[in-house]
Amino acid sequence: DHALVWFRRDLRAEDHAALYAACRSARQVHGVFIFDTAILDALPRRDRRVAFIRASLVDLDSQLQALGRSHGVERVHLIVRHGDARAQIPQLASQLGVQAVYASHDDEPDALARDAAVRGRLADLGVVLHTMKDHVVFERSEVLTGSGTAYSVFTPYKNAWLRQLTDFYLKAWPVAHHAGALAPWPDALGEPGVPTLAEIGFEPPSADEPHLPAGSAGGAELLADFLGRIDRYDRARDFPAVKGPSYLSTHLRFGTLSVRRLAREAWHRMQGGSRGAEVWLSELVWRDFYHQILHHHPRVVGHAFKPEYDAIHWEHGKHADALFAAWCEGRTGYPLVDAAMLQLARTGYMHNRLRMVTASFLTKDLGIDWRRGEAWFALHLNDFDLAANNGGWQWAASTGCDAQPYFRIFNPVSQSEKFDPEGKFIRRYLPQLAGLPARSIHAPWLAKPLELAEAGLRLGVDYPEPVVNHDEARQRTLERFAVARGAK
Ligand code: FAD
Repeated sequence: DHALVWFRRDLRAEDHAALYAACRSARQVHGVFIFDTAILDALPRRDRRVAFIRASLVDLDSQLQALGRSHGVERVHLIVRHGDARAQIPQLASQLGVQAVYASHDDEPDALARDAAVRGRLADLGVVLHTMKDHVVFERSEVLTGSGTAYSVFTPYKNAWLRQLTDFYLKAWPVAHHAGALAPWPDALGEPGVPTLAEIGFEPPSADEPHLPAGSAGGAELLADFLGRIDRYDRARDFPAVKGPSYLSTHLRFGTLSVRRLAREAWHRMQGGSRGAEVWLSELVWRDFYHQILHHHPRVVGHAFKPEYDAIHWEHGKHADALFAAWCEGRTGYPLVDAAMLQLARTGYMHNRLRMVTASFLTKDLGIDWRRGEAWFALHLNDFDLAANNGGWQWAASTGCDAQPYFRIFNPVSQSEKFDPEGKFIRRYLPQLAGLPARSIHAPWLAKPLELAEAGLRLGVDYPEPVVNHDEARQRTLERFAVARGAK
């Protein structure tokens, strides 16, 4: 009997639930990845994530080859197709004559609809679609309150998550023991190989792009580097100029690393007393938290978690559009905000502290709908993940489940003074401000004329004046939210 493993956001061969399950139950196992036109057609033709996926597939293909070879099976290859997954998977299943298809859960609404459609078409062919947990440590309804409901506040969720955690949940799926079931390349499919970006209609990333190591091999490289500094994570993680966080989010997003492996590394160090590892593990719990929020409340896609906040009147019209464009392009006149937006545009990454600052700035200083910012991040973040991005935006906009209270409004200047005190991060992305002393780099419009002259900076020419006055904006936001809460 034959089975097909359908890889989606789990692009690795090690510790892989679906690959393990398939190899345990079938004699011949094929693996496939579909470059799904239903997703790709909506993207710009140059997209760092598509390049990351492609490079990760090359790595996955060689992992599968090596696994096969270690069991004496030659010519094991990943099947890669380009088309609509709803048609491609059933077609391939019947072409290969498989009885079952295995895949990992993906709880995004579009993915659930896709999987339901594929499940139906496979059933017509007499093929079963088995899906299982892989992407998170605890999923769906695995962590519930005492009364059996879903948590919507993080801290009690985290406490329950930690209480429930045992080595069992972090154990790796030992694919290698059963990889003898991997099938050699079926010649009927033509020649094996991962298509080039051009072959799937994409352009390569520009040559001056920062390099993001892809595949499980790239993930392992980043992980090794991070484990050398995980003990300092709690102290270093909030400062964007410092190498504090793990930079593993894109690997978690595409499953090139196993979340069980990462949680295991953190948990064992935490038990050994590492405060850094404890704080880092709690970030992985946030990840699970937002995934279960999306599972239990799919309406958060496009709607405030707290329905009363859907009544907020956000700024609209030409002026708001111009402010939104200034935010997107890093021209707000607030250096930390602008440097952060340039980091996103140039690298596809933004530091967590800066995601909070820029999201707060868009919603609370510019009065612009969080959904517009969410969509911009979704387009540009390498690690874009619907559950985490939506959760982060609703947190910052105060519309979310366990959000920042609406009256707590980040001051973009004091955030800058606190988290980039020397202006090191700002200088990296805004060289035109590099000549300003630390005391005036956070708010150049308050710099003394002499400082501006010495820095060779003409405000309004080399760098914009602030597009908004924070204190006034703050007042408007308090009114805006008071209306939404019927408190006025
Ligand atoms: P680390 O600090 O090393 O954290 C380790 C891992 O924990 C991350 O890789 C990520 O998987 C997870 N994690 C950390 N913080 C969070 C969080 N708040 N929510 C959920 N998971 C978390 N994260 C995404 O993965 N994708 C997104 O699209 C995304 N959008 C965001 C939007 C906003 C407005 C905000 C405020 C946060 C967003 N985050 C998102 C969460 C967080 O900013 C990133 O996960 C983090 O910056 C990634 O960098 P890292 O891997 O170096 O993080």
